[in-house]
Amino acid sequence: MPRLPSPNRVKTHYLYTVWEAAQAVGRHRQTVIRWLKEKGLIADRSKVPWLIKGKDLKEFLGHRRAKSKTKLALHHLFCLGCKNPQEPDGKFAEYTQATPTTGMLKALCPSCGSIVNKVVRRADLEAIRAKIEVTVQQANPRLVSQPAPPLNDTSAMEAKTDEKAHFG
Ligand SMILES: [Zn+2]
Repeated sequence: MPRLPSPNRVKTHYLYTVWEAAQAVGRHRQTVIRWLKEKGLIADRSKVPWLIKGKDLKEFLGHRRAKSKTKLALHHLFCLGCKNPQEPDGKFAEYTQATPTTGMLKALCPSCGSIVNKVVRRADLEAIRAKIEVTVQQANPRLVSQPAPPLNDTSAMEAKTDEKAHFG
């Protein structure tokens, strides 16, 4: 995949025709038209030529770059302060079960010290633990619904059977 053009090549306060936009970002006109029709790039399409605000084009390119960048490694967390994925400080994170299948991974950003967290799948926890140290916190019982019956269910059933035996 070719690298996406930098949004810095676009002037915020300029109205671009499709042609000019294509020139500015070094892409084919058809590509820009596809962005408009399918990818959510905004333009004034009420009259011809269509006009794209530099600001919208810039944002569009920015988002697409961000999207292609934010393919996070499992054990990386996105720091809102640094606007970058980060490996937890000291390669250490805390995991708290949130639902039966997912939990919250919490760590400190190594460059700015912010708390970073993200939702991870329980199934991915082992893979994450292969990369960094993770302590698992006790689940908050109010957050974790229990679709499966509790462990002592068998004894409850036995108790019922006993009852039946008594009264049967
Ligand atoms: Zn940070």
